Amino acid sequence: MSRPAILALDLDGVLVDGMEEYWRSSLAAARSLGAPWTGPQGEASPAFRRIRPWVHTGWEMVLVAWALTHSAPAEAFLQDYPGALRQWQARVGQSPAVLQDALERHRRACLSRDPQGWLAQHRPYPGVAERLRRCGIEGVEWVVITTKGRGFAAALLAQDGLQPTAVYGREDGSKVRVLRRLLEQRQPVWFVEDRLPTLEQVMADPQLRGVGCYLAAWGYLRHADRQQLRPPAHWLDHATFCAPFHAWPA
Ligand SMILES: [Mg+2]
Repeated sequence: MSRPAILALDLDGVLVDGMEEYWRSSLAAARSLGAPWTGPQGEASPAFRRIRPWVHTGWEMVLVAWALTHSAPAEAFLQDYPGALRQWQARVGQSPAVLQDALERHRRACLSRDPQGWLAQHRPYPGVAERLRRCGIEGVEWVVITTKGRGFAAALLAQDGLQPTAVYGREDGSKVRVLRRLLEQRQPVWFVEDRLPTLEQVMADPQLRGVGCYLAAWGYLRHADRQQLRPPAHWLDHATFCAPFHAWPA
């Protein structure tokens, strides 16, 4: 099959680069829960940039920002991400739900106070909007599956005039669950994601055996992701992503 019926795409690191926003919002959320900070708030901390490819869900970024305000070395996260998360979660004493809520509260406040300013902290990757607009011509539905809240994702897509068939956010459950639902609608389903552990979960799920898995080379990747990528997942560089579906590895 040279094209999908449904193209499912991750948002952060695939369609949109929001590094500045992740940093500012995570830092603001951490501070709202009592984290100290005396440094600049503008440009994302280099340590935060390095750790970001490990992040799965928003609350983890709040914890990372919290740890960095306490001068935690980035290496602690880079060498053992789950261990460092556990350690800092115990130290902070806040549940993932509380951390996530602080992040979303800050985002909601920004979005209502200065929507243009908030949206401007996100940068669509070049060529993405044009590529997705061509999906319609090719008879391919495209949908977004993100661990972000659905409302924030929809606002970002609308900013670029993008109208997916559906947006599945944090509220809709895991990406594996959403992909199972999509498979019941139409097949084949192809999935573009920049987080390798998520692709590995999809490939390990017996119900998702037919899903085409693509690792977005332009996203937030860890150093060893390309070497660790195993079939049937494919490496998808940006030029191939922008090309017609028959040019994609299959
Ligand atoms: Mg991503």
